[in-house]
Amino acid sequence: MQYYSTNKQTPLTNLEEVVIKSLAGDKGLYMPERIPSIDRNVIATMKDKSFREIADIVAQAFFGDDMESQTLTDIVHETLSFETPVVHVNDNIYSLELFHGPTLAFKDVGARFMARVLSYFILRRGLDREVNVLVATSGDTGGAVANGFLGVPGINVFVLYPKGKVSPIQECQFTTLGKNITALEIDGTFDDCQSLVKAAFVDGELNSHMQLTSANSINVARFLPQSFYYFNACAQLDKAGKAGNITVCVPSGNFGNITAGLFAFKMGLPVKHFIAANNRNDVFLEYLRTGKYSPRPSVETYANAMDVGNPSNFARILDLFGHSHRQIASLISGYRYTNEQIAETMREVYNTHQYLLDPHGACGYQALADHGLKPGETGLFLETAHPAKFKETVDTILGSDIEIPAKLQEFMKGEKKSVALGKDFEGFKEFLLSS
Ligand SMILES: *Cc1c(COP(=O)(O)O)cnc(C)c1O
Repeated sequence: MQYYSTNKQTPLTNLEEVVIKSLAGDKGLYMPERIPSIDRNVIATMKDKSFREIADIVAQAFFGDDMESQTLTDIVHETLSFETPVVHVNDNIYSLELFHGPTLAFKDVGARFMARVLSYFILRRGLDREVNVLVATSGDTGGAVANGFLGVPGINVFVLYPKGKVSPIQECQFTTLGKNITALEIDGTFDDCQSLVKAAFVDGELNSHMQLTSANSINVARFLPQSFYYFNACAQLDKAGKAGNITVCVPSGNFGNITAGLFAFKMGLPVKHFIAANNRNDVFLEYLRTGKYSPRPSVETYANAMDVGNPSNFARILDLFGHSHRQIASLISGYRYTNEQIAETMREVYNTHQYLLDPHGACGYQALADHGLKPGETGLFLETAHPAKFKETVDTILGSDIEIPAKLQEFMKGEKKSVALGKDFEGFKEFLLSS
């Protein structure tokens, strides 16, 4: 498979280059030249297959040309050491629980897969220098990436996070690991962290000294494996007799998750409609309504992993549909929710249906409810994080004292270690050069 850049100013390249570099030389995002389709009959057999088997079919279709087939199967197997169950919430609404991985975030899937694929390519190429992964996080990405890459040979990870703006549990997930993981506490906002990472990628001196890559969803090996669980979810619904007429709703920030769903759709995923659920950061909704895309600074909300003012995967969505606003707006609907609405939904669903939503999943649930499903239609929203990851917010809203799963408590036992840096690029660059 060859990959092109969404800016179309660089030559086609292969998966190895795409994974090691993340971003094309013209600063565009890499896209596969074609999207393989999965035969309907094969999709129909998925209801009798395991998550790992389903994921292997999807992975081979996409990456099979570029990697040794058995290695790819092994990587899929190692990545998916947990399930992504579909749980009934009420009427015709189901929750796809993506929080059963090691850091209780859906990003575990992409992070674990990318770490292994990157390591495979580093070894295959015989790179004599280490690859440095830079990742900016508002909370969830840092933990998933740090844990996914922990101890992987040939790779160093630098996690940049905004001082005082991530939850204590999240902070422990990337500051207590040590080994090849370095946490950088930036005196600024998430946008500042993101700007530092972006500036590093275009700095000539830095790039001649060290090989840099990104583990944010701009990297193909990070976002694309997320298509695995869309197929797995449809297979589970099929098994429950709920196939056909499925609408999938994705709480979205940088739009990597929903982009993976749209790739799955193009491969043949039996889904009829998509919904992008947003908090008050609603530039995508505005695009759906007006055809105009106007990025702006993000605002803080309860669903902070979706506080994104310029979703990085927007360019991929445009390309997937030949920049046709008409096609995009007919396949995808958008909804947005304020903090008050998020809290209201969490209380209602908890009290009426005894289902505990996190603030991100609450946007997903409510968007399905507001979209309105007809009899015979099935709604599936992605529950993107375990509620305990947002314990302070959830407890305040519900008046609860929710239990912290043992997996999370383990992280809180370690010793926190991070390097404090300002938000100026020179200081960050100096630190990288000296490390
Ligand atoms: C990352 C994240 C999102 C947003 O996912 P994107 O792929 O950036 O759209 C939503 N919810 C949670 C809990 C997340 O961690």
